[in-house]
Amino acid sequence: PGPRAAAAQAKAAVPGVKHIIAVASGKGGVGKSTTAANLALALRRLGLAVGVLDADIYGPSMPKLLALKGKPQIVSGRTLRPLEGYGLKVMSIGFLVEEEAAMIWRGPMVMSAIQQMLREVDWGELDVLVVDMPPGTGDAQLTMAQAVPLAGAVIVSTPQDLALIDARRGVAMFRKVEVPVLGLVENMSYFLCPSCGTRSDIFGHGGARHEAERLGVPFLGEVPLDMEIREKSDAGLPVVVTVPDGPHAATYLDIARRV
Ligand code: ADP
Repeated sequence: PGPRAAAAQAKAAVPGVKHIIAVASGKGGVGKSTTAANLALALRRLGLAVGVLDADIYGPSMPKLLALKGKPQIVSGRTLRPLEGYGLKVMSIGFLVEEEAAMIWRGPMVMSAIQQMLREVDWGELDVLVVDMPPGTGDAQLTMAQAVPLAGAVIVSTPQDLALIDARRGVAMFRKVEVPVLGLVENMSYFLCPSCGTRSDIFGHGGARHEAERLGVPFLGEVPLDMEIREKSDAGLPVVVTVPDGPHAATYLDIARRV
C-alpha cells in the first residue's frame, strides 16, 4: 500500500473500541506507566469497559504493574486474546517477546508490533483503551501517535522545570497530529512522609497547574510522591484497587472523571 493507504489504515477505528486515550510523558521515569495503570483502573471503577495497550515497546511495564504473566492465546487466525487483570484487558509486547529482543527493534518493526497489538487483538467491546506510550516526544512518538486513532492524550509530568519543558513538547506534538490534549497530570507533586504524614514540596509546587493554564489545557490533578504508590506499583498491586478507599484512589478517580 502507498503512503496514503497506510495513513488511512493507521487512522481507521478499531472495531468495538469507542475511545482510545494515550498516556504520554516528555521523558522517562516521571510515573507515566503508573498513571496509565491507575487511570485505567479508575475508569474501570467508574463502570467502563477498559483495555490497556502497553505501547512502551522498549520498556513495557504493564506486566509488572498489573501482575500479569503468560502468553496470549490465539483466538482465530492471527488474532490474540488479551490477558485480563483487575478487570482490564491488557496487551503488552512484554507478553510476546523477550525484553532484550524488542530493545533492538528498529522503527518499522516497532510500528508493525503496535499495529498488531492494536488490530489483531480480540479487544471485544471497550469504552476506553488506554495506551501507555513510550516516553519522549521525538519522531518515534509522533509516528506512533499518528498510527493509533487517538481520541485524546493525557500528559504526565513532574513539577520540575525540565519535566515541564518536556511536557510542553508533548502538548505541541499532539497538537501537530490534531489529537486533543485531555490534560496534564502532575505526578510526584509533593512528598508525603511515610512516618509522620508531613507534606514537603520538594520540587516546588503548582508548576504543572500553572503550565496547564499557560498552554490552555485542563489540569487533571496532582499525585504525591508516596512510598505506598511505589511499593504497590512495583508489587503489581495498584493502589486504585488494593487501597480502594485511600486518598490516592480518590485522586485517580477524580482524574478519571475529568478525562
Ligand atoms: P515512567 O512510565 O514514566 O517511566 P513509572 O510509572 O515506571 O514511570 O514510574 C517510575 C518509578 O517511580 C516506579 O518505580 C514507580 O513505582 C515510581 N512512582 C511513580 N509514581 C510514583 C508516585 N506518585 N509515588 C511514588 N513512586 C512513584
